Amino acid sequence: MDLEDTLLMMPGPVPVAPKVLRAMSKPMINHRGKEFSAMFDDCTAMLKEIFQTQNDLMIVSGSGTASMEAALGCTIDKDDKVVAIENGKFGERFKDIATRYGQVVPLEFEWGQSVDLELVEEKLSEGAKAVTMVHNETSAGIRNPAEEVGKLAKKYDALFIMDGVTSIGGDDVKVDEWGVDIAVVGSQKCVAAPPGLSMISVSERAFDAMTKENLPYYLDLKAYKKSADKSQTPYTPAVPLFFGLQEALKIVMEEGMEARAKRQATGAAAIRAAMDAMGVEMFPQLNEVSGYSNTVSAMKAPEGVSGNDIKSAMMEKGIIIAGGQNRLSGQIFRIGSMGNVAPKDIMLTIQELELVLK
Ligand code: PLP
Repeated sequence: MDLEDTLLMMPGPVPVAPKVLRAMSKPMINHRGKEFSAMFDDCTAMLKEIFQTQNDLMIVSGSGTASMEAALGCTIDKDDKVVAIENGKFGERFKDIATRYGQVVPLEFEWGQSVDLELVEEKLSEGAKAVTMVHNETSAGIRNPAEEVGKLAKKYDALFIMDGVTSIGGDDVKVDEWGVDIAVVGSQKCVAAPPGLSMISVSERAFDAMTKENLPYYLDLKAYKKSADKSQTPYTPAVPLFFGLQEALKIVMEEGMEARAKRQATGAAAIRAAMDAMGVEMFPQLNEVSGYSNTVSAMKAPEGVSGNDIKSAMMEKGIIIAGGQNRLSGQIFRIGSMGNVAPKDIMLTIQELELVLK
């Protein structure tokens, strides 16, 4: 496969700009020196703007799942209840992680179905330490009601732990306004950096809730905060990934989050319009509080065709899209349009897809 001539249209990892790649080949620096601290502070300041938060923000050398586990591993003790909202693979992952640390109260919807807020309220009213939800459920192409769940979490005094892995940096995500106590994003998604880092914001309320005797060791968020206050990380960070992240975040800042969110929403809307014109149905079942994802579009495979065959046929044309994951394998196909994906890339993908489906 000619990597230079391949178009990545999957929901992460996404293409990274040449200057991001170049930054990663710089000579190593002392991770305890001034140069690293300056880079750390620069990244943190940009990320706080993207998250729209004044909360503490930590950068973890580990993918999105590491920060999901840090969030639950630090706040949830064995008798604590966690309402785990699931309508896709990553909601299921939050539930599975929560099972390792506390008592899960599962709130499961069919993958791709909308979250029913009345049921969320019912579960929260029975008392829980936290509620988990994936804002943008990548596996199903659905955007879940973060603001509304934030309000319910506040009403019932539960921590709101949100996976923003494929929304933060792509959507207008308001961590503070929505009352998100812990929010997580992955480097390889909407901010268009290479895979390997995750970023996590933590409210004071969430830190106060970290009362358990034994916090995880590598993913101890209190240790991350203590180091972050000194512009450091507790353990040796993935320095080349920080070099790349800093450049990627500068690109986000140059574009501006408002323009970036608008561009990504427009790109996803263009994909949906094309699907409609081709007679291809979208996969998610929306209600009044959910929406189609602005960063990854999930479509039902047309009758008699497997989503995996569509993916393979597109790969032959040098365009990498995604199939369905786990129980959705074969049933759907997905096109990622997050990060710095340009309108011309979306147009080319639509054109080639039309030829594949004919
Ligand atoms: N959450 C969501 C919504 C995702 O899309 C992903 C990855 O695709 C993850 C979590 C897991 O992130 P990672 O693979 O970086 O650990």
